[in-house]
Amino acid sequence: MIPSIADNLSAVLHTLPEGVRLVAVSKFHPAEALRQAYDAGQRIFGESRVQELLAKRDVLPADISWHFIGHLQTNKVRQLVGKADMIESVDSDRLLRLIDRESAAAGVVSRVLMQVHVAAEETKFGFSPDELLRWFEEGGYRSLQATHLCGLMAMASNTDDMERVRADFHRVAELARSIREACPDLCGFDMLSMGMSHDYQLAIAEGATHVRVGSAIFGERQY
Ligand SMILES: *Cc1c(COP(=O)(O)O)cnc(C)c1O
Repeated sequence: MIPSIADNLSAVLHTLPEGVRLVAVSKFHPAEALRQAYDAGQRIFGESRVQELLAKRDVLPADISWHFIGHLQTNKVRQLVGKADMIESVDSDRLLRLIDRESAAAGVVSRVLMQVHVAAEETKFGFSPDELLRWFEEGGYRSLQATHLCGLMAMASNTDDMERVRADFHRVAELARSIREACPDLCGFDMLSMGMSHDYQLAIAEGATHVRVGSAIFGERQY
């Protein structure tokens, strides 16, 4: 028999230590698939496109916590603010300022993670560790009005070299410690979202508080 979404979910949950939360990454899967995970008890879902998150949010129960995990275009910020419970992928100062402004205008407080780029692959998205530490040291977070910085999000290198993957996660955890040390007035900066289907065990070993698991629960995505 093919394992059901509920079976997969339960298998993943059984591998998570106390205190580690599961973000079920449901991008590209239909609302019906999320409903199955919901009925099995899952409440946090991760989506990478604004329209898709909003459409699913409209048809699924209100007690779901929606995490946005994709690249957020500035022209979509207004639609997302107040709808996502966590924006995990803040990858520039400009985007953060815009989220802050739109959140204040909407009368909400947005919870966000700063996205760090540690993987070997080139990408335009995410702060480098040095850049992000400097940003915190300069106190750029103090002027935020309606945004709560909750921690860091990262992806490890896409490689079978598990030592490299572990080193990537370790670097993110070290960065979080350095930031907290440099900014003792920063409150509640304690989330580390890292690890996907193939590497979340290593991420947990390095201190992940949230893992983002998609295909191990919902199966392969059809893009
Ligand atoms: C798609 C995605 C995931 C989940 O990946 P799986 O390999 O399906 O577990 C996690 N994080 C981000 C940022 C993603 O885009």
